[in-house]
Amino acid sequence: MKTAVNKIYNPEIECMSREAIREMQNERLQKTIRLVYDKVEVYRKRMDEKGVKPEDIKTIDDLHLLPFTEKTDLRDYFPYGLFAADLKDIVRIQGSSGTTGKPIVSGYTENDVEAWSEMVARALYAAGGGEDDIVQVAYGYGLFTGGLGAHQGATKIGATVIPMSSGNTERQIMMMQELGATMLCCTPSYATYLGETVKEKGLQGKIKLKSGCFGAEPWTEEMRQNLENLLDIDAMNIYGLTEMGGPGIAFECLEKDGMHINEDHVIAEIIDPVTDEPLPYGEYGELVFTSITKTGMPLIRYRTHDICCLNPEPCACGRTHVRMSRITGRTDDMMVIRGVNVFPSQIESVLMRVKGVTPNYMLIVDRVNSTDTLEVQVELSEEMFTDTVSGIERIRDEIKENIKSVVGISVKVQLVPPKTIQRFEGKAKRVIDNRKLGF
Ligand SMILES: [Zn+2]
Repeated sequence: MKTAVNKIYNPEIECMSREAIREMQNERLQKTIRLVYDKVEVYRKRMDEKGVKPEDIKTIDDLHLLPFTEKTDLRDYFPYGLFAADLKDIVRIQGSSGTTGKPIVSGYTENDVEAWSEMVARALYAAGGGEDDIVQVAYGYGLFTGGLGAHQGATKIGATVIPMSSGNTERQIMMMQELGATMLCCTPSYATYLGETVKEKGLQGKIKLKSGCFGAEPWTEEMRQNLENLLDIDAMNIYGLTEMGGPGIAFECLEKDGMHINEDHVIAEIIDPVTDEPLPYGEYGELVFTSITKTGMPLIRYRTHDICCLNPEPCACGRTHVRMSRITGRTDDMMVIRGVNVFPSQIESVLMRVKGVTPNYMLIVDRVNSTDTLEVQVELSEEMFTDTVSGIERIRDEIKENIKSVVGISVKVQLVPPKTIQRFEGKAKRVIDNRKLGF
């Protein structure tokens, strides 16, 4: 692997003591709560209903007194109901397009765009980036925060940006090779597809990439290894969400042991998704964010529905900001199969450990005679496809047994020929739930 070097964009902030971070958070939290109480009717009403006044919120220990914000709030108060700034001070709108109903949007003041750019700049530095780099941005540009988010961060570190946007894989690879791109930003599934194509074309030695920041969808350690091998890079995880302003909320350092959350801009909590009670560091639960520097559309206790845990231990890289684990599932993507909670990421991690299959899979949930069924379709590798029937049966049994032991349910496994499962240039769709059809 071409080794990237650990660099810290803003050491004064990224390496400050835990006490200093907490002090900064307390102060910024008070300011933000005052702002939303004064400017956002929804928050004022909800706080009044709970009998909480801005002056009651003094430290992050008082967070639990505040109401939650849900994604549905962003739809219900679309477009401007949650904005805390006057429209004349909003310089950007980003959003995500729901497949049904209203989209959700986030408004940014100049201050917010600046803060967002620095958050992504920190991520790119952590991946070894700098002014000498050529950054190929293969996230979609537009309302989606991926493209512009990566673009702004790369600009901030003084790199050369290639704003490719997503899609047009042949052209992506041609430009990557000809322009000598050294860093790549896109979804991990698209990066994998690019990597597979590079390999197929026999171009593996001709690509100069050294690292990349990959996010906008959950992925596993095994997917990382696969991607690092395909492109000969350090593949770094970056996390964010449109509601909180986009990618860069958290990012990995080269230790690749959790993503540092930009705690000078957000406060992260983990709660029990069922009881809504805060959980201690180290326990898995739902990730909740509170903006503490945004002035356009700060959100209070925003429920991400992403499942992960937090680690406050100092990191070998020198950064002190708390680290979040990989997202292990979604509270709302969670499938309940015969009463058992199943996350697609659990199945994925099993498949990644089995030799002879590729990371391309689809989960099909159905109900037959009042019983839930789960079928796992997974592609065989080229080498395995031509293997003996007994060899293929052995793989099928191995997958079935491993899923049974990891997830606790029996599934049907269907091995399909290479390249027959749909590829995705954006977020991969891995689950087809037929139980919900037919209404
Ligand atoms: Zn670190």
